[in-house]
Amino acid sequence: MPKSATMKKARKSAKSAKKMSKMVYFFGGGRAEGNESMKNLLGGKGANLAEMAGHPALKLPVPPGFTLTTEICTYYWANRRSYPKGLKEAVELNLARIEQLSNGKKFGDPKNPLLVSVRSGARKSMPGMMETILNCGLTETTIPGLIALTRNPRFVYDSYRRLIMMYSDVVMEKAAGVEVEDNRGIRKQLEHLMDAMKARRGVKSDTELSADDLKALAGEFKLKVREVLGKEFPDDPMAQLWGSIGAVFASWMGNKAVKYRQIENIPAEWGTAVNVQAMVFGNMGEDSATGVGFTRNPGTGENAFYGEFLENAQGEDVVAGIRTPHPINEASRSEQSRDLKSLEQLMPAAYKELAAIRRKLEKHYRDMLDIEFTIERGVLYMLQCRVGKRNGPAAVRMALDMHKEKLATREEVVMRVTPSQLDELLHPVIDPKAEATTKPLGKGLPAGPGGARGMIVFTSEDAVNWRKQAKEVILVREETNPEDVEGMRAAEAILTARGGMTSHAALVARGWGKCCVVGCAGVEIDLKAKTLHIGGEVLKEGDWISLNGSRGLVYKGRMNMLDASESNDMLDQFLRLCNSVRRLQVWTNAETEEDSSKARKFGAEGIGLFRIEHMFYGKGSDEPLFKLRKMIMSKTLEERRSALNELFPHMKNDIKNTLRVMKGTHVTVRLMDPPLHEFVPHQKDKLQELASSLGISFEELEARATQLRESNPMMGHRGVRLGITYPEITEMQARAIFEAAAELQKEGFKVFPDIMIPVVSLKNEVVHQADLIHKVYGEVSRKNGVKLKYMVGTMIEIPRACLMAGQLAETMQFFSFGTNDLTQMTFGYSRDDSGFFLKDYLEKGILESDPFQTIDQSGVGELIKMTVDRGRRTCRDLKIGICGEQGGEPASVEFCHRTGLNYVSCSPFRVPIAILSAAQAQIRHPRKK
Ligand code: ADP
Ligand code: MG
Ligand code: MG
Repeated sequence: MPKSATMKKARKSAKSAKKMSKMVYFFGGGRAEGNESMKNLLGGKGANLAEMAGHPALKLPVPPGFTLTTEICTYYWANRRSYPKGLKEAVELNLARIEQLSNGKKFGDPKNPLLVSVRSGARKSMPGMMETILNCGLTETTIPGLIALTRNPRFVYDSYRRLIMMYSDVVMEKAAGVEVEDNRGIRKQLEHLMDAMKARRGVKSDTELSADDLKALAGEFKLKVREVLGKEFPDDPMAQLWGSIGAVFASWMGNKAVKYRQIENIPAEWGTAVNVQAMVFGNMGEDSATGVGFTRNPGTGENAFYGEFLENAQGEDVVAGIRTPHPINEASRSEQSRDLKSLEQLMPAAYKELAAIRRKLEKHYRDMLDIEFTIERGVLYMLQCRVGKRNGPAAVRMALDMHKEKLATREEVVMRVTPSQLDELLHPVIDPKAEATTKPLGKGLPAGPGGARGMIVFTSEDAVNWRKQAKEVILVREETNPEDVEGMRAAEAILTARGGMTSHAALVARGWGKCCVVGCAGVEIDLKAKTLHIGGEVLKEGDWISLNGSRGLVYKGRMNMLDASESNDMLDQFLRLCNSVRRLQVWTNAETEEDSSKARKFGAEGIGLFRIEHMFYGKGSDEPLFKLRKMIMSKTLEERRSALNELFPHMKNDIKNTLRVMKGTHVTVRLMDPPLHEFVPHQKDKLQELASSLGISFEELEARATQLRESNPMMGHRGVRLGITYPEITEMQARAIFEAAAELQKEGFKVFPDIMIPVVSLKNEVVHQADLIHKVYGEVSRKNGVKLKYMVGTMIEIPRACLMAGQLAETMQFFSFGTNDLTQMTFGYSRDDSGFFLKDYLEKGILESDPFQTIDQSGVGELIKMTVDRGRRTCRDLKIGICGEQGGEPASVEFCHRTGLNYVSCSPFRVPIAILSAAQAQIRHPRKK
């Protein structure tokens, strides 16, 4: 039982709480005992209320109140729900201080009663988890007084019925631990009574109920409370106050809150504070209102005050959606509120004051804030402020604007945008407004970022064909495999029923930066009928769906999209700032002109992985692939050499194209890596064609193909091992690289080709290959009369290479960690087969995170550190980078920064993320070089 464990902890910290000196902190009348920096003790809400009320630069109109510290919550739970000695007196004393600032109002006074709100507030905001009670202090005796005073019985009974609703729900039911079925809670039952009353009166809105209606309703409410909960609704103000305080402390250990804390990693010891505050009333009539706002638009980041309000309303009516909220100004107007009057129009003076407060607050907090306010008979009050949540584009825009406005330093700008927020800028997204009002059909894993919409197709061929007819499609598959790649390319997005974050679909989509949702539970695909069952609906081929790949959501229909990349200028500015901070370089993994230029535009400073075999896949690969196959199927050295000679011009041109785009930077070309058997054709006609081109019989060719077959090719004849068996293959590749570079250099381009040897585990392997490469360089250099700056290095992807790093560094000029294979080999997991059980491992918490997505810092990371250490002991300036998939993942980037790597290399779409992560790493852990 987690509760008893947390209680023990709580009890322990309660011992230290014995020293607890001050239990209650007052704010109001232009002064405050607490301030913004005391969130741990006063909770976020209490600390910010104190700041707004008491800071000399602010002194905002905050209704007076006081905060019971989080330490009291801890004490309460450690001491059988009791309070420390002296608390009662402290509360009474501070209540009296509120009264002094309230024009003669007294709590419980029949003639001139003060009402208060009792509000929760933890260190970190826990939206919707904890409770608040408004209008505390209304009783049979204080009601007549308040009516006489306000001459507004409607307002008084409206407040009363609200109090009964909140109090019975929060104090008498939830905090008392009364178990109810869903939708059978007391609050729901009271809401039914109110609906019935509205029906009887033939009205739609609660504002149309009269004073008498509400009075009758309050009576009905109390009867219902007694009937359902078996207790009277308390008619004593002090009983209401302490009941409310206890209920807020109790809500800290409520099921909802406990679960939420587990997910968010919030320790139970923190506790919640309780804020008791004089009520101000937004429900006193047409000249009163309540509202919420953001000091800037949280959806776009625009520097425009943004908010909503309701006339004649209280508390959370605005967010609860019982009436359509009005915009506070023109900038906040939406489709829904098109014809509604704004606050600026209705109450210009109050609006003006609010706008001035907004400016003051931003200047003071130097960030965008989320605020709550209430207007009582034309007078404005501030009830809450905190740093506001925002989406990616808004985060970037605000950070940059605030830098220009001198509200944020360069470092603050960098820290204010999270990597996933930046990611949102790189892809089109579903219009957040549309998303907020649409219920998703299903939820899967967020495998590829951004949003997309398209018509459903079920096969790769259909995707390609529909695309040719200029249709937008989403490819929906059980799972994808390499044969689907063309269809995946053609589709706007990919949705799969099965598979995890490392599934084929996820991997491919991430690499391309394409929107993708995988492992969407409850999806059923009927390929014959061409239908998709999801979320209780049956969709057909051609039906529109929309995906949010950043959150893993699937929607029906064709939703509105925002092109986030339109704001590229902002992205550039932001990345420039990051670049001025970071030390770790960011390179990219790319093989085509297109990918390379995209990465360069984002700021990539080199290529860390150019897979030479890439030219044998995809578009335009037919001819080189045929020649490669000839080479593979060659039996004699002569045959092979002649096939290699045919292959040479293709390879040289391919490399030349990328070297040209990347002029001025390093391009690391990796020698052939995959096992040859991967390229052996399976189709009969292809084999036939090959046989005749080689001048051998079909049977002979088949025999050779069989010979090449390996049972565990990923650990077989591949990488450097090919170059040892067939040195002529390495020679040809080196020649292609150097010739391409030499030609470009003669044309006036500055090029830096580096050659990387894969799958190395032995010193002799690299010595052998480096000799060959240097020899070829000598020949090319003499022939062309040029000198090239080049390096020869090795990939580090086998644990033995890590152990041998010191020796490898004797001949190698750089290391590059291939963390995909290194992770495979270190764990003994096959990346192709581990998806299934890794899911279990993650679910059961055996593994904290997927090591193929983020570097396993304690295991694989230790190998990396050791390698860096040993390598640099041999060669102090050894250049070291990483080119595995993890190279673009924020935590891994930070690890590489801390470990002293020179660069990370990642797919083009991840370059901006890596740039930001590197800059943030530098701010958190500064390093000199
Ligand atoms: P939450 O943390 O869920 O936002 P709050 O404590 O902020 O809960 O209160 C809920 C609602 O009641 C908010 O709209 C708030 O502005 C309003 N409210 C809280 N205290 C007062 C008060 N003293 N006078 C008027 N309205 C209040
Ligand atoms: Mg609030
Ligand atoms: Mg590898």
